[in-house]
Amino acid sequence: MTSRKGFIGSLITGCCPKCRTGKVFTHPFYNFGKFSSVHLHCPACGIKFETEPGFFWGAMYFSYALNVAVAIVTIFTLMVFFNDPEYWVYVTVIVPLILILNIPMVRFSRLLFMYVAAPYRKYNPNSIVNR
Ligand SMILES: [Zn+2]
Repeated sequence: MTSRKGFIGSLITGCCPKCRTGKVFTHPFYNFGKFSSVHLHCPACGIKFETEPGFFWGAMYFSYALNVAVAIVTIFTLMVFFNDPEYWVYVTVIVPLILILNIPMVRFSRLLFMYVAAPYRKYNPNSIVNR
């Protein structure tokens, strides 16, 4: 039996927002075909991860915010530490960076959305309706 992780630890390792032991994703991030696949139910506690059809569409807002944050930090870094280079340098740094970070951003935004927006606190694991 694994011990219950803290909020940040379980968020980073991709664990269930309720029990913080079961894994959320079915495949590792380097499986490019199924990197965003989520278990239907938590392997440890049994809660249903996708509480309603299209639930993870809401994670797009988190993904957008994370990508904007990456762009702002990159722009700030280029302006301050690289003496405000030409416009094309910003584009050639930011676009590949966001493309490379796409897979971790998709996974992390889904996890963030589950941790912040999902009604797991009210969830009753014994309810037949929710299973
Ligand atoms: Zn769980």
